Amino acid sequence: MRFTVLGSGTTLPDADRGPAGFLVQAEGRSILVDGGSGTLQRLKRAGVDARELDGGVYSHRHVDHTGDLVPLLFTLKVGIDRPRTRDYPIWGGQGFQGFLSALLGVYGQWIQGTAWSTVVTELPLDGPGEALLPGGVLLRTLPANHAAGALHLRFEHDGRSVTFSGDTGASPALAELAEATDLLVCECAYDGPEDYDGHLYAELIRDMVAQARPAQVWLTHMYPQVDPERALRVVREAGAPVIRARDGQSVEL
Ligand SMILES: [Zn+2]
Ligand SMILES: [Zn+2]
Repeated sequence: MRFTVLGSGTTLPDADRGPAGFLVQAEGRSILVDGGSGTLQRLKRAGVDARELDGGVYSHRHVDHTGDLVPLLFTLKVGIDRPRTRDYPIWGGQGFQGFLSALLGVYGQWIQGTAWSTVVTELPLDGPGEALLPGGVLLRTLPANHAAGALHLRFEHDGRSVTFSGDTGASPALAELAEATDLLVCECAYDGPEDYDGHLYAELIRDMVAQARPAQVWLTHMYPQVDPERALRVVREAGAPVIRARDGQSVEL
């Protein structure tokens, strides 16, 4: 299973980091995971034409994670020399079908295929979820401590795993889902406690990593108030190798 970071940033403009977007590949299949603005271009840089994606998984519906969904569906619709003839499957938390229906209410046939449909599978927000993705990848989810139908996501293939926090505040469910995972991709949006507790900061991540014992940690989604060096130093106290992920970074697990 190959995991690639398409966007390691936030919704704030950054010359080097796009909003959240990732790619999971296994057995020749490609699954988009989240996709803020600019994801389609960074996907192409990673060698994948969006028209040939095998599906998408969304951690939640905030715009920095879903901004390129409408451009993606329009791209599938236009197709040109690669007309799509198979459905486009999407997995997201409960409420995602309503979200897509609202987008269809605005864009109508511009984002609807004639030879294919967008097929949404919703995952529970009140307990564990599971789905078999293209390429034989098993998706396991637990509800996150955030908004907009947020989930933690764990992808498993051939005995290896990558776990993505999504956006979340302190969450025992994340430590549970990330148990002994090969790679934990974890948001680190804050530098410390803030009024809105729907995001993580270094001390919370350190304590969660100490409990879950992932083989390595990639930090992402840092807002400008975060001091990356301090965050890395604190999270490393848990004993696992920790880096700040960058756009285009890729690893074979
Ligand atoms: Zn969010
Ligand atoms: Zn976010």
